[in-house]
Amino acid sequence: MQHADRDFAIKTRRYLHQFPELSFKEYKTAEFIRRNLDELGIPWQAVGETGTYGWIEGKGAGSKKVLLRADIDGLPVQEKTGLPFASCHEGVMHACGHDIHTAALLAAAKRLAELRDSFGGTVLLAFQQAEEQGHGALLFREAGLTRGYDRAFGIHIAPDWLLIYQSDEDSLKLYLMRTGTHSDLF
Ligand SMILES: [Zn+2]
Repeated sequence: MQHADRDFAIKTRRYLHQFPELSFKEYKTAEFIRRNLDELGIPWQAVGETGTYGWIEGKGAGSKKVLLRADIDGLPVQEKTGLPFASCHEGVMHACGHDIHTAALLAAAKRLAELRDSFGGTVLLAFQQAEEQGHGALLFREAGLTRGYDRAFGIHIAPDWLLIYQSDEDSLKLYLMRTGTHSDLF
């Protein structure tokens, strides 16, 4: 990861961490995501009120579609970490790491947008609301956005491990990796 990308990811994550929002109430988060996509020249459509689906078309040859997915909602938890970028929203915290997932996907989108001349096919971006309540994905399904790609990837982080999930229309694979000291990256 280049320094600029790393700085962008950390800055983005810390901003999101300060302003967590509960499931289906991720209005400011969605606004932030969409503003970033606009700045990167990435087209998007709203999914429900707070979900966002973007796409980056590579200029090279190829027609495969790969979907990258992140969840964006926080939890009804009071933050007591004392971090300089701790939650500014009383009783709400990004305690599940979705701020990191969102920041990582925005950082990937930024890099992929910069590299779009060098790959073919399309990268789809799913910023999914309301993962904590388990219903946000239904809005993507109802909009027909959970089909029509060749592979989908997502992550879930924790202090000592990283879960990577990969799916196509017929299968789901899970990879669990221990991350050791790298968890301090963000
Ligand atoms: Zn989670």
